[in-house]
This record gives sequence, structure tokens and C-alpha cells, in this order.
Amino acid sequence: MSVGERWCVVGGGMLGMALALRLAQRGQRVTVWEGAAELGGLAAPWSLGEIVWDRHYHVTLASDSYLRGLLRELGVESELTWVTTRTGFYAGGRLLSLSSIFDYAAFPLLSPLEKMRLAATIIRASRIGDARPLERISAVDWLRRHSGQRTLERMWYPLLRAKLGANADRVSAAFIWAIIARMYAARRSGAKRELFGYVRGGYARILDRLATHLVECGVRAVVGRRVESVTRSEDGSLVVKASDGSAEAFDRVVVTAASPLAARLCPELTERERELHEGVEYQGIICASLVLDHPLSAYYITNIVDAWVPFTAVIEMTALVDRATFGGRSLVYLPKYVTEGDPALARSDEEIEREFLDALEHMYPGLQPGAVRGFRISRVRYVLPLSTLGYSDRLPPIRTSVPGLYVVNSAQIVNGTLNVNETIALAERAYPGLLADHPAGKQRPLNV
Ligand SMILES: Cc1cc2nc3c(=O)[nH]c(=O)nc-3n(C[C@H](O)[C@H](O)[C@H](O)COP(=O)(O)OP(=O)(O)OC[C@H]3O[C@@H](n4cnc5c(N)ncnc54)[C@H](O)[C@@H]3O)c2cc1C
Repeated sequence: MSVGERWCVVGGGMLGMALALRLAQRGQRVTVWEGAAELGGLAAPWSLGEIVWDRHYHVTLASDSYLRGLLRELGVESELTWVTTRTGFYAGGRLLSLSSIFDYAAFPLLSPLEKMRLAATIIRASRIGDARPLERISAVDWLRRHSGQRTLERMWYPLLRAKLGANADRVSAAFIWAIIARMYAARRSGAKRELFGYVRGGYARILDRLATHLVECGVRAVVGRRVESVTRSEDGSLVVKASDGSAEAFDRVVVTAASPLAARLCPELTERERELHEGVEYQGIICASLVLDHPLSAYYITNIVDAWVPFTAVIEMTALVDRATFGGRSLVYLPKYVTEGDPALARSDEEIEREFLDALEHMYPGLQPGAVRGFRISRVRYVLPLSTLGYSDRLPPIRTSVPGLYVVNSAQIVNGTLNVNETIALAERAYPGLLADHPAGKQRPLNV
């Protein structure tokens, strides 16, 4: 390992920052270039009037050991608050609770036999150690086979839609396995019931501490600097150029942006490398944040069975976070997961707001139009790489054919759901290999 090399990490999301931190702590000279006006990426906060909270809803599970390790390092793990939340289902125009074993027994959408098959499916998935064979069958086919058609339609499909929208049919059974594995890990961590946690102040607090810690460890983070290209110069260094005209030479560059973006930034990749990155299909999101006078329900998440509803779930942050944090008001998210090319991403804020509020008023007749105090829409084209059939056979490798240039991104989270814990776990797995790599030496693939 050469000490004190100049590294540029492209992307100041949780992944880029975790990598930058570890590299700097091992003596490297690290700069982060982030295109947005602030650090944090998908986990960044924003404001709705007086309220500052995460742009996208986030919870932490007790089993999120990598994330909790980082929070400990930042001195904020003790600020985690743990809450048992409730889950709802909106079906046939009714709001149903599915929060306890009693709710499950009384759940009207499935017969007792279907409930037993459903429970057996979950247990079966939890006992599978290697998810790779599940990549050969679609989630929908696998769930139909083990739980039956009606349970697929009434339970599994709404759950898949809440996470994937129109991509629900595209993922392999490994996706369902990953969700069940995360749920089981949370239970195994000692809690009898699934607890959801958040740091007081939300991700704004975590990111504030992380930014300070980065500076203390010698990382230089530059925001508002969108990278346009990374190319090799004659002296062997890598030149990183940004859209504001700035350019700087580095010994090594780690791109953490989504694969299709990484392919565009790195023109010297081989055709095969480009093909692998462009071949990763992403899920996008339109996510509305609303401030309401009153909560809509007692559920943290309400999964939606009725197909006419234009969003894929209702998330009530106030079922988790004390309302006093939001000035006594209620913070609600309405996510609509979309394909990366969905024309809905180009619709105006006004159109989306009208459509979402009409549907919400229909679902919750008690909601008065005047009770909506804030409405803001986030759109992201590349959120979550889809775990499609045979996904791990087409993984883009970390090391590229350009010496010193690496791509570490969410596409390399195989058979895991996208969450900050997996993101940090990826950084922890990847950085020793980056340090050990000798760009000018023999090219060997780096595995994560
Ligand atoms: C709706 C939603 C809900 C979620 N809920 C949870 C949850 O409950 N719990 C949980 O743990 N996780 C949750 N997550 C996931 C979590 O936010 C992600 O796992 C994590 O933030 C991903 O970090 P990242 O750094 O890999 O990617 P990103 O956050 O996407 O970071 C990539 C960064 O690269 C920057 N970038 C891209 N191109 C360039 C360029 N050319 N030049 C410079 N910079 C560039 C981007 O601006 C961005 O900041 C959720 C995500 C979403 C969208």
C-alpha cells in the first residue's frame, strides 16, 4: 500500500463518505466531489417550511450493525430512539391493521389455509442460506408456487409494489429472500418485536456529525461540483473534470454514482465494462413529503392493495418520530416507485400534487384539504438496482481496466435490500481491496 496518495471519491452519499473516511484514516489524501449542493445523497435532509427532515423516509433496524458502528464512531448511537411501529393495509377501500399475531389471525383478505401457507413461505425463505439459486426464478413465480395465487395477489404483490412499483414483476426471488433475511436479522438481534429506530434530528444530525468527522480525519469535501469525466493523463494520473470547469489530477479515483452515470463519466472504460454498467436496471422514485395538521392513521407503513391509488405506500413518519419534532404536525411520505425511464418522472409538481392529494382525500375521508400545510416532491431516476434474473452473473467489478480507477456503487450490493447498513457494509468490504491494489501492477478482479 502506498501511503499518502491523492484520492478523489466521486459522490458524497453515505457510500462515498464512508469510503473517504476509511481511506483517510489509513493515511490517504482524500477529496470528495459531490454534485449536489450538500452531502448525503438519498439520505440528505430538506426543509418543508420550518420542518427539516430526511428527503426520503429512513429507519434504522436494531440489526443494522455496520450503520450502528458508524453512529458509535460519530458519537450519536446513544441518540437512537427505538419504537415499535404498526403496519396497515389499504384494501377494498378499507384500512386494515397487520401489526400483531392477533391482527394476522383476524386478517380478512386470506383464509386460514392461505395464512398457514404464507407463514410457511416466510419460514422456508428464512432457512435458505445461499440466495443464488433464487436468482433463476422470478419473485412472482416463486411466491405463487409457495403461497398460492390469491395470497400473491392480496399480500405479496402489494408488498412488492410498495417497494418496486411497476418493476414488481421484474425481480428474482432473491429480492424477497433479502427482505425476509433483513426482517429475521432484526428479530435475531434480541428484540421480540421489530423495532424501528431513528436518531433525534434525523439524517441531518448524522450527516452533520459525519461531515465534521471527515474534516477531523483530513478529508476535503467539495459540494456543488458535478463530475463530467475521469480520464487518464500522459503522466499516469487521473484527471477529474467538473461541469464548473474545474479539473484536478489524482492518483486514484473511486466513482460511487449509479452504474449508468459511472459509465458516462468514465469514457475510457472498455466496451464490456460499459455494457455491464449500462445493463444494470435501476428503479426510480417520485416521493412526496407532506406536512399535515393531524396524523392519517397509527401506521408507520400502509401497504396498498387497491391498484387505482397513484402512489405505492403511505409512510407516516409521525408514527415513529415524536410529533413535537414537527411542531405538533404530522409528516407523511407518499412514494411512487417507477421504472428509470417512466414518463411520470417528467410530470410537473402541480400535476403530481393534485393527483396524490385527490387519492389521499379519497382514502382518508377525514382529511380536510386545508389540513395540508406543506407538499414537496423529490424525483430520483437511479435509486435501487433491480435484482433481476441471474443478476450476480452480470455484476460490474470494482476495479476497472483504467489503472487507478474504481467503481464502487449500490449495483454491487448483491441479494441485499438497499439501505444505509448495506451501503456502509459495502464500503467496509471494498476499501481494504482498494488500498491493497497496485494500479500499475498485474490486473486482477477485485471481489466484494
Ligand atoms: C425512498 C427511500 C427510502 C429509503 N429508506 C431507507 C431506510 O428506511 N433505511 C435505510 O437504511 N435506507 C433507506 N434508503 C436507502 C439509503 O438512502 C441508501 O442506501 C443510501 O443513501 C445510498 O447511498 P449511496 O452513497 O450509495 O448513494 P446516493 O445517496 O445516491 O449517493 C450518490 C451521490 O453521488 C452523487 N453524484 C452522482 N453523480 C455525480 C457526479 N457526476 N458528480 C458528483 N457527484 C455525483 C449524487 O449527487 C449523490 O449524492 C432509502 C432510500 C430511498 C430513496
